[in-house]
Amino acid sequence: MIRAVRIILAAAIASGLIVTGVQDPVERGILRLHYLQKPIGSERYEVARDGDVLTMTSDFDFTDRGGRVQLAATLRTKADFTPLSFKAQGKSYRFVNVDSDVRIDGGDAIVKADGSEARVPLPAPFYTVDGYAPFAAQMMLLRYWKQHGQPRVLHTVPGLPANEVFIEARGREAIRIGTTVVQLDRYAIDGVVWGRETVWLDERGTLAAAITRAGGLSFEAVREDLEPALVGFVQRATRDRIADLEAITRHTALLKSGTYAMVGATIVDGTGGPAISDGVIVVRDGRIAAVGPRASVAIPDGTPAVPVDGKTIVPGLWDMHTHVTQVEWAPVYLGAGVTTVRDMGNEFEFITSLRDAIASTRALGPRIVAAGLIDGGGPNAFGVYYAATPDEAKQAVAKYHDAGFQQIKIYSLVTPPIVEAITAEAHRLGLTVTGHIPNGMTIEQAAAAGMDHIAHLGIRGEAGSDDVKRTIAFLRDHKTVIDPTQSWNELLGHAAGTPIAAFQPGVLKIPAPLNRVFANAGAAGIDAATARTRLERGLRIVKALHDAGVPVVVGTDEGIPGHSVHREIELYVEAGLTPMEALQAATIVSARAMKMDGELGTIERGKRADLVVLNANPLDSISNIRSVRWTISDGRVYDAPTLWRSVRFQP
Ligand SMILES: [Zn+2]
Repeated sequence: MIRAVRIILAAAIASGLIVTGVQDPVERGILRLHYLQKPIGSERYEVARDGDVLTMTSDFDFTDRGGRVQLAATLRTKADFTPLSFKAQGKSYRFVNVDSDVRIDGGDAIVKADGSEARVPLPAPFYTVDGYAPFAAQMMLLRYWKQHGQPRVLHTVPGLPANEVFIEARGREAIRIGTTVVQLDRYAIDGVVWGRETVWLDERGTLAAAITRAGGLSFEAVREDLEPALVGFVQRATRDRIADLEAITRHTALLKSGTYAMVGATIVDGTGGPAISDGVIVVRDGRIAAVGPRASVAIPDGTPAVPVDGKTIVPGLWDMHTHVTQVEWAPVYLGAGVTTVRDMGNEFEFITSLRDAIASTRALGPRIVAAGLIDGGGPNAFGVYYAATPDEAKQAVAKYHDAGFQQIKIYSLVTPPIVEAITAEAHRLGLTVTGHIPNGMTIEQAAAAGMDHIAHLGIRGEAGSDDVKRTIAFLRDHKTVIDPTQSWNELLGHAAGTPIAAFQPGVLKIPAPLNRVFANAGAAGIDAATARTRLERGLRIVKALHDAGVPVVVGTDEGIPGHSVHREIELYVEAGLTPMEALQAATIVSARAMKMDGELGTIERGKRADLVVLNANPLDSISNIRSVRWTISDGRVYDAPTLWRSVRFQP
């Protein structure tokens, strides 16, 4: 084992990566960090040797939209990479605080994390890793895995109490940079974060590149000299992940498809009319062929009947604010009853591939309506598509239009004249425009400049005040659509002392790595009452918008995957909407906002068969929206618990 390490080190010395000190060889590396492909910082790491102990130290540091994120980590291992201790402190994302201290003691790990200490029995093979950062820890994890016979599963801490990580070798490839060709091995790592990451090692076992997610958005690390190959890495990882989703699809049995009749359920068709008890829905080739009470719907001879007595059927739900940056979202959304999502900013290569794979039915998942992100230029810009001049605005809109995006999402740094250039060009090409209220503009100015939708609530003050009333009247007159993302505000704004499960039971069903992400979410230094007061101020504005006739649509900005859609709907009822109105915000109002209500949004004859079969009626209690039994997407019937389990959620 020690010999293998020496060989790696010798190869590294030969390559010039190593500085040989008086006593100890040192391996050093610099990775450039990217968010949505935009370079935002770097990770510098070092592996030093002292006798039989290797010490990896990493300094992970980036600035995202003006906010600094830093993490310091130290991993000590035996010469065969078996961990001895691991410490990580700082942040791995804006709202993800990391404070882990793990020491291996015999067959146990002493885990100090988030202010508590536990002794966790640790079955071999094991590793110590806490989320995607630092990448050097994942490099060491891969070296350990290779050194120990590529075990099927690794137990990792901190976890709940231990997490499981699965690694797969996915292939070898040559990357050409100028005249240099670098041979790389590609791996999929599943379980360090929720879902799969792609990591490349070179022939010396040095980390070449990694593609993962941070804060729910795509995050890439690339060794300095391989920087020109960034987009190639993204494309390669995208192909792997789409193949993974196709495999999940093949292994997920359809309960029904083609022609059938769902018989005996209560049907809440979403039009606002009364529920139909003992109803029938006839589905033929992906569409609703007939719907109504059993007594008045003729079921054609030979049509297979699916008994659904006691169930309630509602239209497929929408999430109007998401970033589907990993394929694992696809089964999650269907499992939660969500059959259409509006993607609000993503990696171009990934979202177009995923959208097309789902549309072709090669891959299961919600229908994806894509909004293309455009920011202003400069170092604090978000993503790599920006417009600082009218010409750049036209080019950016054209790129998204040509790739089938239905909307543009304007981000905070776009200047007022460029907002107008973007909306004019988008409207000319038949696209609508949503986005953040650009810096220096008011919500009225943004709407007046042509923004058809506004993301997030964006209205301060009290719902009853004259200012807020004026703003709401202005938005009503401009037919501006709002996705208030109140569940997101609640998730990050709740008092840190309040457990998330107190308002979001879905958090008890998420995989361990996601639990690590949300373990420290919440606002420090405020009590539960203050947090609730802030939330209620927002909910009163949601109610006032709704009452004034401003379309309010359900959007989450991700949050607790799938479950945040249900929470957003529940919050609208807390705001004072009726359960029917809250359900409509997640169905027909969303469909109308995207001009897709001719096909979607209600259970009506001729529309697409996007339906959710619930165990209980959400009009009785809105939380029954969580009781999804089957989801029907374009006529294909999926078992919700099976979908959840396929991506390591509890159903
Ligand atoms: Zn967002």
